[in-house]
Amino acid sequence: MATIESAPPAVGSHTQAVIDTFSRYVVPNYRRFPVCLVRGEGSRIWDAEGAEYLDLFPGWGCNLLGHCPAPVVRAVQEQVARLIHVPNSWYIEPQGEWARLLSERSFGGQAFFCNSGTEANEAAIKLVRLRTNGERYKIITFQGGFHGRTMGSISATAQPKYHEGLGPMVAGFQYAPHGDLAAVERLVDDKTGGILVEPILGEGGVVPSPPGFLQGLRRIADEHDLLLVFDEVQCGCGRTGRWFAHQQFDVVPDVMTLAKSLCAGIAGGALLTTVENARHLRPGMHASTFGGNPIAAAAGIAAIRMIEDEGLLEHVARAAELFRTRLESLRERCDGVRAVRVMGMMIGVELAFDGAPVVQAALERRLLINCTQGNVIRLLPAMNIAPAEVEEGCDRLAAAILDVAGRQ
Ligand SMILES: *Cc1c(COP(=O)(O)O)cnc(C)c1O
Repeated sequence: MATIESAPPAVGSHTQAVIDTFSRYVVPNYRRFPVCLVRGEGSRIWDAEGAEYLDLFPGWGCNLLGHCPAPVVRAVQEQVARLIHVPNSWYIEPQGEWARLLSERSFGGQAFFCNSGTEANEAAIKLVRLRTNGERYKIITFQGGFHGRTMGSISATAQPKYHEGLGPMVAGFQYAPHGDLAAVERLVDDKTGGILVEPILGEGGVVPSPPGFLQGLRRIADEHDLLLVFDEVQCGCGRTGRWFAHQQFDVVPDVMTLAKSLCAGIAGGALLTTVENARHLRPGMHASTFGGNPIAAAAGIAAIRMIEDEGLLEHVARAAELFRTRLESLRERCDGVRAVRVMGMMIGVELAFDGAPVVQAALERRLLINCTQGNVIRLLPAMNIAPAEVEEGCDRLAAAILDVAGRQ
């Protein structure tokens, strides 16, 4: 095990050269750490100067099986040598097989494939509208939700900070406070066609649905003949220890969107829906050129098989318990930790102070984490993280939090 260092990673000449190229040629729409990553394996990643980091936020939630999981690497290597891409005007075996595996692990419907989360949600928005030929075009979404960056999905995202300067938004979205069923009832009218919600808010601070909330939405959707759409782009695909987060709430949606971890790090997205609703996405009304391509499909299939072959859903429950024990004990001895929320490998540590310095303090300890909503440390660890890595990660995280808390 590497020793815990505590100094800002030195920006070596190799990294500096890469940063200089970015400054000149890459649109500066991201805040980036001055670290150039070159290689990863499991929950470890290395930078251009050879420093090793423990990654509790691999691939922003996309690398659900850690960096470069061997069965996925093999499947992609084999596929890429055989067939890289064919359009959706032909049949390919992996896309059908992938859809079957997803259907059998969810609610038994059909899949539409695309390349990202926002694109999956765009398909869901279109499906809601197409079902009534555009008559019931309104969709209710929730404050604190996040659905992506294209104009439809950003309009569905009820967070004003993401709308600044982008108006006008796409019409037809109505926002309710998260968890407030009465507000949803008040918003429903004869133009309402659907409800879109994350079973666990991700970007919104790692917040699970309050008890009864998703059941209540299901009831409202049934009473008013609305489509209930679950955005599981962040919480789905095994991360919570169930295949899909809604399964632990015992509610079945009409539509579910997936991306991020769907292909264990390869770009891919999907919308799943019942056969009854799937027919509204008829030929000519929706498409995605790269959707369900052979490489994404091979990766998606390999990810599902790896989760099953290695018993990772069961492993998640054990790793989550370890995280909970460690983080709860930190909360007990540090006033700056307000709350700990562990839903499998989806973890939020709510602080009483700004989290950005904690992310920096963690980086100095060679630990990669994330902060969302200003004060929630977000961890999206790999499902196959080893118990020793959980311990090591919690040691470093506790040191970073205590360091910053001491400076408050
Ligand atoms: C990340 C995310 C999206 C957007 O996904 P992209 O692949 O970045 O378009 C949508 N919904 C949720 C819940 C997300 O976490």
